Amino acid sequence: MQKLDKLYEGKAKKLYATDDPGVLWVEYMNQATAGNGAKKAQIEGKGSLNNRITSVLFDLLAARGVDSHFVRRISDTEQLVRAMDMYPLEIIMRNTAAGSFAKRYGVEEGTELKQPILEFCYKSDDLGDPFINDDGIVALGLASKEELDEISRQARAVNDALRDIFSKIDVQLVDFKIEEGKTSDGTILLADEITPDTCRLWDLRDGSGQIEHLDKDLFRRDLGNIIPAYEEILDRLEALADAEGVARRVTLA
Ligand code: UDP
Repeated sequence: MQKLDKLYEGKAKKLYATDDPGVLWVEYMNQATAGNGAKKAQIEGKGSLNNRITSVLFDLLAARGVDSHFVRRISDTEQLVRAMDMYPLEIIMRNTAAGSFAKRYGVEEGTELKQPILEFCYKSDDLGDPFINDDGIVALGLASKEELDEISRQARAVNDALRDIFSKIDVQLVDFKIEEGKTSDGTILLADEITPDTCRLWDLRDGSGQIEHLDKDLFRRDLGNIIPAYEEILDRLEALADAEGVARRVTLA
């Protein structure tokens, strides 16, 4: 597989074409951002940790029947994925009240929700990713009703599978953001990344009674260094994948 032109550079990843039009080359960067890019830092080791975390998560999900765009990991910081037309949506699932949801409704962070909540935001840096509901998505033509039904079904399936995965490594899956896209043959699939940048993960092994963040809130809220927390997540996920004998899609040069 040959790496060709750079197609896109985001806040945390660079995307390249390859000699196969159906496959893209993703490079994870060390950059961390928060507040729509208002806060920015280079954090040595972050790109490699997120590349490895999202790769093992896509393998653990596949073993649970949840497909994604992931093809295989090819180095510490790089992976191959299927080329997709992305929906301009941030798809958020919440199991526990936190962050913007806790603020918006005046509930204490950590309050368990009686059922998972699926939320959508319209992905637009200029507009600050505003909240949008199902009717708004269809009315603006961001996805058809049928596509949105499938996206919603997949988001709930991802939540069920991720909750199972994280409960097995003593981590509370508070909430997370995913993105979905469509391949050239019309298949709707989970895409982008699933990492501690995009999930709220609280340690259940910590007996202090206080919330122990193993995610980007450490950076967003100036609570500490993210690297040991991300390493802890990777170590526990790798141990789970080994224990479950999950097939790993990795070919290192
Ligand atoms: N999230 C994300 N990217 C965004 C916004 C949110 O990955 O641009 C994730 C975030 O890490 C959390 C979940 O989505 O796990 C819900 O975030 P929330 O809406 O509470 O926003 P925040 O409080 O982070 O602004």
